[in-house]
Amino acid sequence: MLYVRLCMLDFESELLDLIKLFFKDEEIVTSNDDFTQISAEKLLSGDLYIVEKTCSYRIGYAYGSGKTEYILPLSGGIPDRTQISERKTFKREIKRGIYSLLSKALGKKLPWGILTGIRPGKIVHELMGKSVPGYEIDKVLKDYYFLSAEKAELLYEVAAIEKSLLGSGSPDFVSIYIGIPFCLSRCLYCSFTSYSIHQYSGLVGKYIEALKYELASIGEMIRARGMKAQSIYIGGGTPTSLSAAYLKDLLASVEGYISLSRLHEYTLEAGRPDSIDAAKLDVIKNSAVDRISINPQTMNDETLKLIGRNHTSKDLTDAYRLARNMGFNNINMDVIVGLPGENVRMFEDTLKKIREMDPESMTVHTLALKRASRLKAERAEYSLVSELEAVEMINMARGYADLMGMHPYYLYRQKNMLGDLENTGYCKPGCESIYNVQIMEEKQSVIAAGAGAITKVVYPEENRIERAFNVKGVEEYIARIDEMIYRKKRLF
Ligand code: SF4
Repeated sequence: MLYVRLCMLDFESELLDLIKLFFKDEEIVTSNDDFTQISAEKLLSGDLYIVEKTCSYRIGYAYGSGKTEYILPLSGGIPDRTQISERKTFKREIKRGIYSLLSKALGKKLPWGILTGIRPGKIVHELMGKSVPGYEIDKVLKDYYFLSAEKAELLYEVAAIEKSLLGSGSPDFVSIYIGIPFCLSRCLYCSFTSYSIHQYSGLVGKYIEALKYELASIGEMIRARGMKAQSIYIGGGTPTSLSAAYLKDLLASVEGYISLSRLHEYTLEAGRPDSIDAAKLDVIKNSAVDRISINPQTMNDETLKLIGRNHTSKDLTDAYRLARNMGFNNINMDVIVGLPGENVRMFEDTLKKIREMDPESMTVHTLALKRASRLKAERAEYSLVSELEAVEMINMARGYADLMGMHPYYLYRQKNMLGDLENTGYCKPGCESIYNVQIMEEKQSVIAAGAGAITKVVYPEENRIERAFNVKGVEEYIARIDEMIYRKKRLF
């Protein structure tokens, strides 16, 4: 057990996120009590000393018979809440101190150094915005943020591609997200807003009606404010869990309510092959959708069964071939590194089969143990790969992406990922999804419809984002649809 006391800093939770990465299997107890009274194996403490204008932070780690300490001189005392950039620096310095101390004491380095947030690319964009040359950015990532050489290189490569894609947009552009919160079954690792389409069959029609009503108001709002849709993304859940008739109704409404005159990209996540058939693909093909996902996650049948997906790898290949034969020419495939029971060889088998299919893009996720997932609750029942194997799989995926002529173009991180790794989107040149990049870099407002969808208004000059949340429950969403619309109108 590790006891942590961090001198009542109001960003303690962020520091704890970093500390947890060093003590993965350890129970962590936080307390503001005097540790001299506690007889624990491991104690981590942080104390702030202010003498006149000189401020320092003393971090101590005591373990067994050993003890190590790190003293950080912090000029100017603690910045208050109005001094945003000073506060950020102050927090970063303390994170650096904790990282240095623990890394030395435990002999462990983290691939992403002190970066614990979802969007590491933002740092590189900020430095690029100040015209800092590439070799200096690389140095900052490695020496200041403590990233490994591979992650620094990956991050820079991705940020450079994102920059070229983001630069082509107009300030009036927005992204549109449409959520379909239904799936055929629930995957073991899932924590999304997703309900069984079978159990909710009586509500699907009403849900589509409410969604169309919300889309009509979004269309009006976009027109009235002179905004233009740059991209549309229909996700979920599994949008193709809807019947062909509902899908047709929904896609026709999107085109009826939202002007597509400036649209760059329109994605529909077909998701699981057991939800795809020729009739649905025909509906999609006859709409403005120009990019779909067909997601294997793994091509191993045993694993597919274990994670609760009621389809085989053959179903996946059949759905993919069907889509190809019907003329879909921009298909993404998702895979997951470290699914329960899988090893490096099995993962390579998945990559080989994806290579044979030759999609335009591949998104490589690392398994994350999410709080709301069944996997988290039943963790003891499943065997997962070691951190080293997860790293090997991630590197292997990069190698296969390269063989398929793909490059990385967006990435993000989540809490509790195996090996503290990342999710990376790869694609062939020219097939980058602008929606994915905009979502990750938060440079553009997103107007979102559907249960659990989150609308974000971005104020780039003020470096500020405001959000409006749609309720997650299907019945609640239908009943409170006017309120969801009002929340958005108020925000814009
Ligand atoms: S298909 Fe996606 S949204 Fe549906 S249960 Fe599986 S992980 Fe969750």
